[in-house]
Order: sequence, then structure tokens, then C-alpha cells
Amino acid sequence: MEENKTIRFNIKARDDRFFRAAESVLKKYKITRRPALEEGFVVFDVTGGTSDYVVRIHPEWRENPRCTCPDAENRAKENARGYCKHIIAVLLKNTEFRCQLLEAFL
Ligand SMILES: [Zn+2]
Repeated sequence: MEENKTIRFNIKARDDRFFRAAESVLKKYKITRRPALEEGFVVFDVTGGTSDYVVRIHPEWRENPRCTCPDAENRAKENARGYCKHIIAVLLKNTEFRCQLLEAFL
């Protein structure tokens, strides 16, 4: 629907994502940090769900976090600036990167 474009940000969808991240990802999935940086990014493997995904976090936040899941490219992009539940879970779990969660609230 065309008029939905004026609603740039869906707060409920964003909040749902945070709860899903806390509930499903943090409880069920395994988040493994790769030992070395890859092209300047800290890389995390998220396993234990229906598919495995890779989350990349820029340590100085020069770029927003990225995830290989389809949600990051689709619904999360419209509703939460690309912050899918995997990215949210990784950021919640790693205090040094937690400030990057702010982007989802701006
Ligand atoms: Zn994801």
C-alpha cells in the first residue's frame, strides 16, 4: 500500500523483533565469534535455527551491522533499519557492541 511509505518506521515490528531476539535467538541459538577480523568486521556465526546465518559488526560502527538472513534484507529493512533478530541478539550479547543497538531506535 502506497500510504504505508509515509510510515517510515514500525515501532511494534521493531519491538517484536527485540522480544524475538531475546526469546528465541538468545535461548536457542548458538552465537560464535570468529577469532579474527574479516575485512575489518567482527564476524559471528549464528547457528541452531532453521538455517545458519552470519552477522558482521563493524567494531567502530563505521557501517551498520549486517546479517545474511532474508529478514535483514526485507522486513527488518523496512521496520527496523535492517536490524534483524540475529543482529539484535549478537549486539545484546556482546556488551562492547551494545551501543550499536541505538541505531534501531533513532
Ligand atoms: Zn538475521
